[in-house]
This record gives sequence, C-alpha cells and structure tokens, in this order.
Amino acid sequence: MTSITVDLGGTRIKLALINNGEILESHILPAQAEVGIQNRIQDIEKIIRRWLRSSSEIVEGIGIAFPGIVNPIEKRVISISGKYYDAVDFDFTNWCNKNFNLPLVLENDANAALLGEVYYGCAKGYKDAVIMILGTGVGTAAMMEGKVLHGKHFQAGCLGGHFAVSLSDRPCSCGGKGCLEANASTWALPLIAQEQPDFDQSGLSTEEKIDFVALKKWVLRGDETAIRLLAQFNHYWSLGIKNLIHAYDPEVVILSGGVIKCGDIILKPLTEKVSKNAWTPWGEVTIKAAKNPEHSVSLGLHHLITAERKDYNEV
Ligand SMILES: [Zn+2]
Repeated sequence: MTSITVDLGGTRIKLALINNGEILESHILPAQAEVGIQNRIQDIEKIIRRWLRSSSEIVEGIGIAFPGIVNPIEKRVISISGKYYDAVDFDFTNWCNKNFNLPLVLENDANAALLGEVYYGCAKGYKDAVIMILGTGVGTAAMMEGKVLHGKHFQAGCLGGHFAVSLSDRPCSCGGKGCLEANASTWALPLIAQEQPDFDQSGLSTEEKIDFVALKKWVLRGDETAIRLLAQFNHYWSLGIKNLIHAYDPEVVILSGGVIKCGDIILKPLTEKVSKNAWTPWGEVTIKAAKNPEHSVSLGLHHLITAERKDYNEV
C-alpha cells in the first residue's frame, strides 16, 4: 500500500511518499504557518502531483497531520493556536477530491506520531502507550487498549502540553496560564532564560538564538544559569509525564521531538525523576526515545490510510 503524507508542523511541512512503511521519498517545505494554509496549499499540491506522476506504485490515499484539535471523522480542523489560522474553515475533503480524487485521512500530529511509533517504531506490540513530543511546543497523545483516544470533543490525550503545572503568570499559546508548554518548551525557553536574574552573567546571553542546542552547550560548560534552567525544565516535563501516566495508565512512555536530540543530559534525569515520582505499584513504566522522530507522524498517517483501505477493501 502506497500513500502520500503531509505533516504540517509549526516550522516545517514534511511530505513523504511511503510504501508499506518504507519512506520512498521525502520533501521539506518551510511552514510559513503565519500566512495560513490557503497560501501554502499550492506548494504542497505541486509535490504531491510530482510524486503521483513519478511513483511506480499506485498511491491509494493522502494523509494530513495538524498541530491542533482535529475531527478525524468529519476530516476538519476544530481548533488551532496561532498556526495556519485559516485551517478551521478549510475543506480538506473537497480539496483532496477535486485535486487528486483520493481518500483522505486527517489527524492530530501527536496522535499520528503515537501510531507511527506503535506500528513502525520503538513501541511495537504495545497497546497502552503515551507520547510526549518536545518540539516548538509540547504535544501529547494516549493509546489505551490499542485505541488512540479522541474523546467526546476530539481533545482527549492531545492537550498534555497544556496540563497545569505552575502558578506562573506567563501566557501560553492556548490563551491560558500555568501550562506545561509555557514553562518548558522551545518557544518558552528564550523568554524564561531572559527572566533569570543572572541572565546577563550567563553564556546564554551571548547566544543569537537561545534554543536547546545552546542550552546544552552552556550546561556542558558548567554555566550555572543553564544548569538551573535545564533542571527546572526537566522538573516540569516530569510533572507532565507523571500526569500522563496517572491519567492513562500506559506501559510505555515515548519521548520525541527536537529536544530529545540533546540526548542523555535530558533523557537520563527525566527518566529518573519520573520513576521516582509516578505512582505505579505494579512496576515501572518504560520510557523510550522515539525510533523515527523525523518520520513518526508520516508513518502514523500511513498506518491510518492502510487501515482505512483494508476496511474499504473488505466491505
Ligand atoms: Zn496552554
């Protein structure tokens, strides 16, 4: 089964041509999410058309993942914060029918990433799993008894980045306060760093861009502000993971996103903190780094298209 997938991220749009779980082609477009989906869709169409012409396999469906609340049954975006502002009014089914006459799946990006890791990645064989994606923001998703949770209003499991973890007044991208994402994410890092009373004495103040690569660099050089910030972020992430464990009772927690590229300086203390603080009398939850952090969303969409085509062919 061959499919084309579109992962609409906050900074990049990742397209992939996939055959039976193998990525045959991939292409990255700058997201320019602030201009809206209407202004990005032609560039996406061009790549899809090119692959439809060049692929030796018959493409059986298109999958799109969105960083917001998605209704996968009606195939529409319910709510997004700040990115692709016009997606809520965009008719994806009509767009797909008109341009490609192919079946479409639409899903929240973290839900798709969780499926990608369960079917093609680090969590094969698990039926109870959660994922936390530490990227520009914080995305989460939960699977219980083999099913990705959606809930009455399609927001179950996917709002873990907005778990309340702090009394801080810093506004979050969702419009709320005290959220995990507002206290420990890539977008919040420069704001939090600059709030530190000793910021001017920290090596971080010499960085043009304060991201996790810069934070890791200064942690390894023994910079006190950087070390304290990383410990603080680890604390908040561990609270988020603890909340996911207590809410959804998983066997495995998958960590993904650009931040985990920092490796052991994040993963090791985070795993220790979670093991110490989560209430799991049956044993310890396994914490794993995603196998395909770059492609888990695409592979999850591919799984959904495969499952949908299988159902269709069996009718
Ligand atoms: Zn929030």
